[in-house]
Amino acid sequence: MKTSLTIAGSDSSGGAGIQADIKTMLANNVYGMSAITALTAQNTMGVTGIMEVTPEFLQQQLDSVFTDIYPDAVKIGMVSSPQLIETIAENLSKYEAKNIVVDPVMIATSGADLIQEEAVSALKEGLLPIATVLTPNIPEAAVLAGMPVNNDDDMIEAAKILSNAYGCAVLLKGGHSKTHANDLLYSNDQYRWFKGERIDNPNTHGTGCTLSSAIASHLANGHDLETSIKFAKDYVTGALRDMLDLGSGDGPLNHGW
Ligand code: PLP
Repeated sequence: MKTSLTIAGSDSSGGAGIQADIKTMLANNVYGMSAITALTAQNTMGVTGIMEVTPEFLQQQLDSVFTDIYPDAVKIGMVSSPQLIETIAENLSKYEAKNIVVDPVMIATSGADLIQEEAVSALKEGLLPIATVLTPNIPEAAVLAGMPVNNDDDMIEAAKILSNAYGCAVLLKGGHSKTHANDLLYSNDQYRWFKGERIDNPNTHGTGCTLSSAIASHLANGHDLETSIKFAKDYVTGALRDMLDLGSGDGPLNHGW
């Protein structure tokens, strides 16, 4: 069986973060492992607390995983501090990790800040250059590319800037667009759109985590990037279409549809 590692934060509500990643990996036929960067106390109404692990403890988790069950793909999600980002960058290079999907998680769907401001430059310097694919949403792409992203032409321009600057493929997700849910893949100076069906479901908590870990799962299983994105989008669409409705706020999607 192929294996995949998520390096991300825990979400006590089970809808996003490590929990969403592991559920997604299982549903997409890979063995899932985790190195936890932070614990969050949260439910469908919001995040009430964040407790980061130390860089030393993250190091221990990464050593444990890489020296035993080597991952065929790695997904990186919430990493809130520059020190943790540096630890990840150093170790992924040291262990020659492959199929690295970087989801530059900055703000929870509920609006909570999940990254310190200084961590954004560490992310750019340490993680984007080793990414196989970067999966920002529109607000994250605007921060990383340093430009407003208001329409399809802006999406193409921002993805191009990031892909050329960091030498990685960029999947810019259109879910925050008012008009469509199409994602743009920019890679090797070419782009293509992945058409998405907009599903009218307020329960979207964990959508970004789920997409990036589904892409990692399909890469681990040996598919090329475009096929992995297509399969991952189909999986997220199904999980949203299932209309699970849990909790008092906007809830999670159904990972086991
Ligand atoms: N990672 C963690 C630990 C989170 O708590 C959240 C959101 O609450 C996210 C990532 C991002 O979630 P989403 O996939 O909804 O963007």
